Amino acid sequence: MFKKLHLKLTAYMGVILILFMFFVAAGIYNFTRIVFEDGNKELMKTEAIRIYNYKSRGFPEFFINNEALFRRLRPNSLIESKRLDACYIVYDEHLTRVFSDEGEIPIANDIKTLAEKSLEEGRDLYETLKIGRFNYRVYTKYFNDISGQSVVQVYQNTVNEDILWSFLKNVLLVIGVTGTIILLGLSYFLTGQALKPIKETWIRQKDFVADASHELRTPLTVIQTNLDVVLSDEDGRVSNNEIWLDNAYSETKVMAKLIDQLLMMAKADNNEGKLDLTDFSFSEVVENVCHNMKVIAENKKIEFIMNIEEDMIIKADYDKMRRLVVILVDNAVKYTEQGRVTVSLFTDRNRKVLLVEDTGIGINERDIDRIFDRFYRADKARHREGGTGLGLSIAKWIAHMHRYSLTVESTVNEGSKFTLRM
Ligand code: ADP
Repeated sequence: MFKKLHLKLTAYMGVILILFMFFVAAGIYNFTRIVFEDGNKELMKTEAIRIYNYKSRGFPEFFINNEALFRRLRPNSLIESKRLDACYIVYDEHLTRVFSDEGEIPIANDIKTLAEKSLEEGRDLYETLKIGRFNYRVYTKYFNDISGQSVVQVYQNTVNEDILWSFLKNVLLVIGVTGTIILLGLSYFLTGQALKPIKETWIRQKDFVADASHELRTPLTVIQTNLDVVLSDEDGRVSNNEIWLDNAYSETKVMAKLIDQLLMMAKADNNEGKLDLTDFSFSEVVENVCHNMKVIAENKKIEFIMNIEEDMIIKADYDKMRRLVVILVDNAVKYTEQGRVTVSLFTDRNRKVLLVEDTGIGINERDIDRIFDRFYRADKARHREGGTGLGLSIAKWIAHMHRYSLTVESTVNEGSKFTLRM
């Protein structure tokens, strides 16, 4: 499912990227062309004016065989002072060629219609035409002054530019295609990264539902089996079946605890577990929890020691912090068969510390990294003890929400030490 989603997202990104690349490349290409064309148009216009001015600088117009004497006399000076590599033709108002400087391939006759049109309409014309194998850019400038009307045509063969434009097109295409491929790869990687937490949450949620149903089924089966026994004893009294009923009842307690913890976890997953921060005496909370647990510990013949600094005020979520203390102290008593449980609350280098130590069964190295995981119970067969495997993950989450650290050190058969630093 995630693989498909991953590919789908990358494909969407790909479409966006291709469109983006296309518009950027087309934009760069067209913009460059427009700027270039505009610049060139201006240059051609200036060149036309320059030629016209030169022509009008008092040279009498003598014609020999229809060709201006002027051109014969001073052709080089005009060419030398050229600012643009272009050819030109000058016509008078009768559309007679006054002089010209054409390149190797003369095209004057092909563009004469433009000169005609310019004279007729009395305006400048700027066009690009395909003549023969080449494209030509032609600027036809119309003049009308005391010497009468005339037209100067400046034109250029654009073959070199065309090569340049097609080169630019190819470069942009190559950059666009490679850019898109690189960005697609990058977007595949980044989408994968972005999907990772979603995937993890989804897998966690799936496991959570599976584990929760599994955990709920166990006490239900126990309840059912015990009640079946009771039901099969048709003539029996309640007192005769007390043991089965007790079993069933204690399993309902396990179920109630489990459901309560499941709700808490669900809230944690939905980020609904907002903190209700207040200032309160943490010393009182710890003391209160310890007093309740002390009774259970003493029933188990375990020594219960309290070293609690007085009046330690913290700003935290009261209910959640109480729950955290209950989880730690309850576990310490639950997993200790002999020896003692010590609960200490003190301040160490400006940090408030809660230590819950026991001399119980301890946790082996293999399990220690996983005891904060949901539903994880070290050595499940050895002690079910009404445990759900959710307590420590809730404790860790509460600590995390408060930005406290909760760590554990433990040695099998020697005991465990849980440290909450605030
Ligand atoms: P549970 O409801 O099973 O106690 P927890 O999340 O509180 O679930 O604890 C997870 C597991 O960590 C327990 O099943 C137990 O194996 C181990 N554990 C927790 N606290 C202690 C402790 N004080 N001593 C030894 N083992 C412990």
